[in-house]
Amino acid sequence: MAKLKKLEEFREEIDQCVKCGACRAHCPAFGAVKHEGRVARGKIALADALLDGEVEMEDRFLLDMSQCLLCGSCYAQCPNKVPTEEIVAATRREIAAQKGLSTFGKGVATVLKNQGLMDLLAKSGGRLSSLLFKKLPDNSGLRLRFPAPFISADRTLPNITAKPFRDRHPEFIKGEAGQPTVLFFTGCGINYMYPQVGEAMLKALTFLGVTIIIPKGQACCGLPAVSAGAGEAVEGLAEQNLAELGKHCCDYIVTACASCNAGLGKIYPELGEEFADYRTKVKDIFVFLVEMGLAEKLNALPKAAQRKKVTYHDPCHLRTRGITKEPRQILKALPQVDYVEMESAGNCCGLGGTYSVYHYDTAKQIGAKKANFIAASGAELVATDCPGCIMQLQDSINHAAGEQRALHILDLLAEALP
Ligand code: SF4
Ligand code: SF4
Repeated sequence: MAKLKKLEEFREEIDQCVKCGACRAHCPAFGAVKHEGRVARGKIALADALLDGEVEMEDRFLLDMSQCLLCGSCYAQCPNKVPTEEIVAATRREIAAQKGLSTFGKGVATVLKNQGLMDLLAKSGGRLSSLLFKKLPDNSGLRLRFPAPFISADRTLPNITAKPFRDRHPEFIKGEAGQPTVLFFTGCGINYMYPQVGEAMLKALTFLGVTIIIPKGQACCGLPAVSAGAGEAVEGLAEQNLAELGKHCCDYIVTACASCNAGLGKIYPELGEEFADYRTKVKDIFVFLVEMGLAEKLNALPKAAQRKKVTYHDPCHLRTRGITKEPRQILKALPQVDYVEMESAGNCCGLGGTYSVYHYDTAKQIGAKKANFIAASGAELVATDCPGCIMQLQDSINHAAGEQRALHILDLLAEALP
């Protein structure tokens, strides 16, 4: 049985925070609004006080706990490796256990647990797209025509496809003898909003002769439910995925979404022994492609006469787990790309799951800094490795009236492959 840790099981980790403040300068929430309740040590102190019965779950407490992007930037800098994002997530589950889920959290849990409902909503949204949304100039996204709960009217949204990615392909695509078999965990972003990223992934894997399995019954990884404090939904989704993915024999489970990669590769193995092999079996697509020698193959291609200046944004869910080299290796090797590193490429984009729903104003402030760095790099494109980051980056660029486009590295890779 998949089981998330309860807040009281984090006592030891909480005690390891020495309140040194080394994490402060790296916290995007604190950077946007300089308030101690936003920074890691403040949240850890609150979680500690809650366990000791010294604070109540009153409004201020709930607000402070909601103001965390679960980005893990504090953990990456912390000398004692205190897992603040896990402590905050556990505190949100405790809040949900005692006070019930928020309206939005209930909605998230209901939709994510019901694949049929998610399919139906996406298909309806895709078909009604022109009624619900207006297109932004240069095809840089959509905006709602009418006010809607939890979505700001000035937010740039991606298109929703009327035909999800997984409905477009068979479950099994045979590759060449002697090449590995990979299971493609698409995640919801690629399945419903960025299907072209999935197509690009298939092109790259097929180019290498890899056998591909795209399980029809795969569910959401559960990361949005982690952010919402919906613990039972996370556990249920993990079990569903374990059962569905376990029907197929594969060498690796490959993702092209940083959040899915963290969900399957980091959170699932902590849910129980049955997930233990996910630690090594789950691979980010660019880690896999580099291991397969694709960077060398791309480097051998002649450089294109017309090249685009491209920079890279590190998704927190990869950066904080040390996956920074491989996406850049592939990007730099592309014949049509002139790579330029932007300042603070590892700064969070500001999405943070439910954070940008509850705190869109500060999410925009965090995104504005990122949009400035993108503009200062001189790049015309910002590539990344996460559908959620693409959505937030394009939104931030549009708010800054920039002309750059945000896209997945796989979009560029597909252009370069025959
Ligand atoms: S997880 Fe991110 S937003 Fe939350 S306290 Fe740590 S650095 Fe700040
Ligand atoms: S979370 Fe880590 S870096 Fe931040 S105050 Fe505590 S010990 Fe220091």
